[in-house]
Amino acid sequence: MGERAILVSEVGLRDGLQSIHSIVPTHVKMEWIRAEAAAGVREIEVGSFVPAKVLPQLADTAELVRFAATIPGLTVAALVPNLRGVQAAIAAGAHKITLPCSVSETHSLRNLRRTHAQIISEACAIGELLRATPEERRPHFEGSLSTAFGCTLEGAVPVGRVVRLAEQLMRAGCDEVGLADTSGYANPASVRSLIRDVRAAVGNDALTGIHLHNTRGLGLANVLAALDEGITTFDSSLGGLGGCPFAPGASGNVVTEDMCFMLSAMGLDTGIDLEALFDVRKILAAALPAEPLYGFSTLAGLPLGFRSHRPA
Ligand code: ZN
Repeated sequence: MGERAILVSEVGLRDGLQSIHSIVPTHVKMEWIRAEAAAGVREIEVGSFVPAKVLPQLADTAELVRFAATIPGLTVAALVPNLRGVQAAIAAGAHKITLPCSVSETHSLRNLRRTHAQIISEACAIGELLRATPEERRPHFEGSLSTAFGCTLEGAVPVGRVVRLAEQLMRAGCDEVGLADTSGYANPASVRSLIRDVRAAVGNDALTGIHLHNTRGLGLANVLAALDEGITTFDSSLGGLGGCPFAPGASGNVVTEDMCFMLSAMGLDTGIDLEALFDVRKILAAALPAEPLYGFSTLAGLPLGFRSHRPA
């Protein structure tokens, strides 16, 4: 297998911290962002532009975007629930915005208080705003199909609905769509088939990223299945922090450290220095002493003689 560049997108500051009640101080989050970028992580979702009364843990998102945008080579991503959030994200200088669109309408109503029709019309308004935004300030626009593999509130979700929403999001003006296993229902077979079905509808270039959880221990198996299908961007969370406060029982993103170890061990180029990445955990452990941090490779350490790809 030749070297293939893989983009690891850290989502712990958003997906991780939104599910934890304690509030991490802004300067600690900045230390986390700085250290992880220095370890070679090239994309970090630093927060979500939701009202502070909904998620006080993420109230400093604009400040974090402005800070992270000063780090050379780092793509600064943020979640945006609506047009207002997009305006705030552009003002702060975000490079990438992700609008969640939950395939389960029950989850969508609970999470975003919106029906599918309302989200698609919001996506259209966002697309219009982005087209009117000068290119140098225009963020990359991703529509994320959350609960794409099933939902704790609705159970199975029909594939046809995932495909239809992907098409609608692309028509609304998204640059790409992503698949998100919000509730940890995916398995390697469903990952493979859903990627194929969505790509058949919107094209390979419109689906390059996936967001997987490790709720039932299938996180890395699912990453491997997506990798085999040609997916190149993988969301993960340092220490496996995270889950979804609106999907009861769903906890734990794919662990960044273990995923990076797997990719690097397979000879894939992530540009990440594993020793430096493992060290970033200390910042989290000190800031959130009561939170369990997951991951095996950090416990076992790197195999003897292991050489990870170092940032150039
Ligand atoms: Zn998630």
